[in-house]
Amino acid sequence: MQLDNLNIDANHLPVLETFYSLQGEGLHTGLASFFVRLGGCDLSCWFCDSKESWNPYINKLTTPSELLVEAQKYNSKHIVLTGGEPILYPLDQLINLFHENGYSIHIETAATAPFVKDLDWICVSPKNHSNIHNEWFKHANELKVIITDIEDFVFAEDCSKLVSQGCYLFLQPEWSRSKGLLPHIINYIFKNPKWRLSIQTHKYLNLR
Ligand code: SF4
Repeated sequence: MQLDNLNIDANHLPVLETFYSLQGEGLHTGLASFFVRLGGCDLSCWFCDSKESWNPYINKLTTPSELLVEAQKYNSKHIVLTGGEPILYPLDQLINLFHENGYSIHIETAATAPFVKDLDWICVSPKNHSNIHNEWFKHANELKVIITDIEDFVFAEDCSKLVSQGCYLFLQPEWSRSKGLLPHIINYIFKNPKWRLSIQTHKYLNLR
């Protein structure tokens, strides 16, 4: 992605939106969290459910301090950085500021840019057409593979070989195909119980 004409630095991040909701996916499903969606992504997955985030140029450049003020309107001390692809930007100031204020910082990433230190929970959701930075796998707390087709189980197994012991492994059906895919995924998990099922509970509940 070409970001040359964007005046982004650690103190000016392209934020598409913030919102307070329940984490809908993965191990922290149900956890009240403040979400920060950063604009811009270097992939273009056909199944992306946040295509409005792809163009970083439409976003307001926002300071970590402004984000903290917004987050402090809510009771949770959990912040989720998502996108788009949040690791395209320098996150150090944001991470330091939120840590100083007692927050736990979770991130959702496709791991297409260099590793970012000092995050509290790393969810790596690799896409099989992407240029993956393997250091993310080593540090991942959870691996979440989106299953769009039963052939994606092979990619999921390949990814599971790259994570550390103790990393939680999730298979998540692509939303528009979930009805057809769920029986296959459940059957796969029965046979391969290292995997867990992740469904997008926020969508079933009509939450953000
Ligand atoms: S990596 Fe995520 S945000 Fe980027 S296009 Fe794919 S699904 Fe969308």
